[in-house]
Amino acid sequence: SNQQSVTVIGLGPMGQAMAGAFLDRGYDVTVWNRTASRAADLVARGAVLAPNAAEALAANELVILSLTDYDAMYATLEPAAAALSGRTLVNLSSDTPDKARAAARWAAERGAVQLTGGVTVPPAGIGQAESSTFYSGPRAVFDQHRPALEVITGRTDHRGEDPGLAALMYQIGMVMFWTSMLSYWQAVVLADANGLTAADILPHAVETANSLPGFFSFYAERIDAGRHLGDVDRLAMGKASVEHVLHTNADAGVDTTLPAAVVELFRRGMDAGHAADSFSTLVEVMKKAEA
Ligand code: NDP
Repeated sequence: SNQQSVTVIGLGPMGQAMAGAFLDRGYDVTVWNRTASRAADLVARGAVLAPNAAEALAANELVILSLTDYDAMYATLEPAAAALSGRTLVNLSSDTPDKARAAARWAAERGAVQLTGGVTVPPAGIGQAESSTFYSGPRAVFDQHRPALEVITGRTDHRGEDPGLAALMYQIGMVMFWTSMLSYWQAVVLADANGLTAADILPHAVETANSLPGFFSFYAERIDAGRHLGDVDRLAMGKASVEHVLHTNADAGVDTTLPAAVVELFRRGMDAGHAADSFSTLVEVMKKAEA
């Protein structure tokens, strides 16, 4: 096969967008999906629907996987394992770093090589120059396939040989994404309980979110130096503040799971004797799994 042809396995919103981006760039695209009907639009645009996963693998050396998780990969590729030899599997399915490492070994045992990927944009960002994906795995394989990878997202960031690293970077972003979005939902329900719409609080929500990068930068240096000075904020002050947040939500009669979890972390910091330190000292508390 040549560089201008690719197989895409998994046609959820992400896989469909990826296959579409390759078609837009003139690639010969072979696709396969458990639910064949999801390939219809792509076939209408010129993609070839393989009759099974083994033939999808046989069609091209470069194989993009966009499945729900790594278990879906095993379900898809185990019956086709004889066709894996010589293939480059670019696995863009999200999962844990350990699952990515195990899958790289599984692929190697079958004569294939895995590049792990963590895409940082939703389907609308696929094929865009400014979008970015983390990769890890063999550098030479990454370099060889870079032009194709840059069709998926214009920017790529190879983090190292360890196949878990791309998954790690992805999960670092996702822990922030999901908890931040939940914090926004909390703000929305608190507003709603008080007669305010999401639109009413949008400017305030955006301004609050935009203030966060300044805090990240300020604390990053101190955290890396292990210095949790209570000069600009103290954990005891923070504890009182997060209790006000919890009580405001409780008084409004809305769910308090999230603010209660925040209060619990501050309480553990206080119990560990950090009342006069910065609330960044919670980093030290959170480094250990709770007893
Ligand atoms: P979906 O979960 O919608 O797509 C899942 C794909 O996996 C479908 O093709 C589905 O097949 C297939 N699949 C699931 N389970 C199995 C199985 N047991 N056997 C065979 N095939 C299976 O995911 P998305 O397209 O939204 O995303 C793909 C990956 O990209 C996910 O890991 C996601 O976390 C990640 N991602 C998603 C983003 C997004 O905004 N959507 C952004 C960044 C990353 P079928 O059609 O038959 O159900």
